[in-house]
Amino acid sequence: MPDAHPDILSAVGDTPLIRLRRASEETGCEILGKAEFLNPGLSVKDRAALEIVRDAEARGLIRPGGTIVEGTAGNTGIGLALVASVRGYRTLIVIPVTQSEEKKQTLRLAGARLVEVPAVPFANPNNYVHVARRLAETIAAQDPAGAFFADQFDNTANRRAHVLGTGPEIWAQTGGKVDGFVCAAGTGGTLAGVAEALRARSPGVRIALSDPEGSALHAHYTDGVLKAEGSSITEGIGQGRVTANLAGFTPDLSFRIPDAEALGIVFGLMREEGLSLGGSSGINVAGAIRLARALGPGHTVVTILCDGAARYASKLFNPAFLAERGLPVPAWLGAPEEPLP
Ligand code: PMP
Repeated sequence: MPDAHPDILSAVGDTPLIRLRRASEETGCEILGKAEFLNPGLSVKDRAALEIVRDAEARGLIRPGGTIVEGTAGNTGIGLALVASVRGYRTLIVIPVTQSEEKKQTLRLAGARLVEVPAVPFANPNNYVHVARRLAETIAAQDPAGAFFADQFDNTANRRAHVLGTGPEIWAQTGGKVDGFVCAAGTGGTLAGVAEALRARSPGVRIALSDPEGSALHAHYTDGVLKAEGSSITEGIGQGRVTANLAGFTPDLSFRIPDAEALGIVFGLMREEGLSLGGSSGINVAGAIRLARALGPGHTVVTILCDGAARYASKLFNPAFLAERGLPVPAWLGAPEEPLP
């Protein structure tokens, strides 16, 4: 038998853990990033997409030729489109207009049909999640092949992907020497799922939330009120409610990370460590540094490198976009090139 995967879906997960040199040196800890940007759909959300579809198949909720409908900031949709093309489904994605063009284009190329909607809060019936749910109901009523609403925020198959995959992988890759885990939450599947897996194996492990500005979770876990302040240019993270994937989960620590801090880390990792990452990875590594400082030298802290820089070239790596938002623009970004010799 050749040493080959039977299909691309079997290449989801089993991502490497990468030591982050500068963060480790500055804190005296081992700070390790789980390279989720190496999944086939280039993000951590492939795991959730695959488990959600597997679960739906096992429960008879989806039929060949049926349509998977989802409301997503993009990455879950890319994962679902990938799974759908291998397993014989169609994909209809509802995405807020504010998300990056790169993600929208990737979705189209992956075969998804896109519906762009204004970015309005969850309480508004025209929020992307509600639009997706209604579209799934309408298609289910009209198309004999049916439709399935993936419901990543409240479908706990999402969290299970990390209870069964990401968490045990981190445990095995660190040989059980993991003192802290930290990441941001969009649906909360990664954070709550990895927390559940690690706490089951090591009750003393410290779990932290790394929250962007504009998210209500930090206030919720520190003051008991779901209150959001400020805003962030990061995509796919931050949350205004306790989703089903976060239900029953509480972090030991919580950090609120400004965009400027996260972006400084993204730029540093790109220029000094060869890691091209998106904004949420910057929020995560910033949280890992804060958690390492809270634990003190000699500890091992793991975080998630969710997706790659290419998905945000027109935003995070666009000097005009950064300057407009009052964010620091690194000197090398957009600087005129030196003449060739
Ligand atoms: N980073 C990025 C880039 C994402 O797209 C997402 C998913 N929305 C997350 C982080 C957060 O992952 P989760 O949904 O598991 O909380």
